[in-house]
Amino acid sequence: MTTKSHLFYQTDSRRPVLAEARGIYMWDVDGKRYIDGSSGAMVSNIGHSNPRVLDAMRRQMEKSTFGYRLHFETEPGEKLAAKVAGLTPEGMEKVFFVSGGSEAVESAIKLARQYAVTVGQNSRWKVISRTPSYHGSTLGALALTGYNPLTRPFEPMMQPMPKIPAPRAYLDGLDIDDPATGNHYAEMLERKIIEEGPDTVLAFIHEPVGGASTGALVPPAGYMQAVREICDRHGVLLIHDEVMSGGGRTGRFLGADHWGVAPDIIAISKGFGAGYAPLGAMIAHDRLVEPVLQSGGFMHGHTYAGNPLACAAGLAVLEEIEAGGMMENATRSGDLLKSRLNDLMQRYAFIGDVRGRGLLLAFELVSDRQSMRPLPKELNAHSELVELAYEQGLIIYSRRTRDGVEGDHFLVCPPMITTAAQIDELMEMLTAALDRFAERVEPALRR
Ligand code: PMP
Repeated sequence: MTTKSHLFYQTDSRRPVLAEARGIYMWDVDGKRYIDGSSGAMVSNIGHSNPRVLDAMRRQMEKSTFGYRLHFETEPGEKLAAKVAGLTPEGMEKVFFVSGGSEAVESAIKLARQYAVTVGQNSRWKVISRTPSYHGSTLGALALTGYNPLTRPFEPMMQPMPKIPAPRAYLDGLDIDDPATGNHYAEMLERKIIEEGPDTVLAFIHEPVGGASTGALVPPAGYMQAVREICDRHGVLLIHDEVMSGGGRTGRFLGADHWGVAPDIIAISKGFGAGYAPLGAMIAHDRLVEPVLQSGGFMHGHTYAGNPLACAAGLAVLEEIEAGGMMENATRSGDLLKSRLNDLMQRYAFIGDVRGRGLLLAFELVSDRQSMRPLPKELNAHSELVELAYEQGLIIYSRRTRDGVEGDHFLVCPPMITTAAQIDELMEMLTAALDRFAERVEPALRR
């Protein structure tokens, strides 16, 4: 019997009803088991139903579930902010809680702007971002998002923002380990700042390790440092969108920690609440926040910000990551999974690239590796392969985003608790799905 649903999200495709989830596994109401091979949308970093997080939430619920920020400080909020400040680069001392990634990005660009106004730099308002990129779905964050299919209908309602290409060295045939490659892409930022007029540019925002839009793009050697230097040279603030790469998934708390580069503002979410509560944060350098607070306060906020239940969950998540050595496991299991994904390139000629750090990993499908041409659009690979994996009981995450509309990549990002044996299990399901996909795709490629 099918019942009419009153719920709606992006599409009308219906999914099985979730019954329960534990560790890296999920079950639907018919008893079918799934491996959460993408941690939802790279969210459930510590796995599902972690007993200590549930316990911390239960204890907090019995004390209070809401204290409005203009009326009360809360203990979980204070503790979590202090913990986060201790995990981020020196000087990144100020933590502003929100309930998700888009809110974190909105907060970041609004703080940047208010700082500029406060210090007399009224002319600075443009935020440069990259194509492709995803920074959120609210209109401010969407204006930074470099992905036409999502932005086009809303263009009249948004302020256009300048874009530069993301450093996709693998598509341009450049060596990711050569610092000249990093400079090549970073120079695009400098040229854009000069073209726009440096005194009009407020900030540059990018994802240190790419998320869904680029498919776990790792920057080429020298890129992160060169970008920092260029921003400093032109008085442009550097914002790291660590909504997906932050929280430990890459093997470090922040993606940018792999390069030792500190931005001025950080946006985090997803793995920060790890699926236990809607939670995100904008973390900013003292030097930006102090003048804004002195000048009358930050003109921005969300009602649910700093919710004590969400903060108690976030705190327990960070404690579990530390106690369980989960970042170390993300590195260990990530290296293993990446090498197993690389092995698939021997078996399937249509896998063009495998990339990522820790357990933020992706592979991209192509027609042939020489040209790196995408698969024909009609094959609908991004959704076909996801469905085939789903049939096997494996959840992976895909996007079709090469230059806005073409190219299929797949994120394989199981929780940070995934063991070597579970990677075997995941790979068996993925290989079965790819075998079935190959039966469909290979004849089409020979034609
Ligand atoms: N930035 C990045 C890098 C993201 O991956 C996302 C979510 N996919 C967002 C921002 C927006 O986060 P949310 O969906 O929680 O609003």
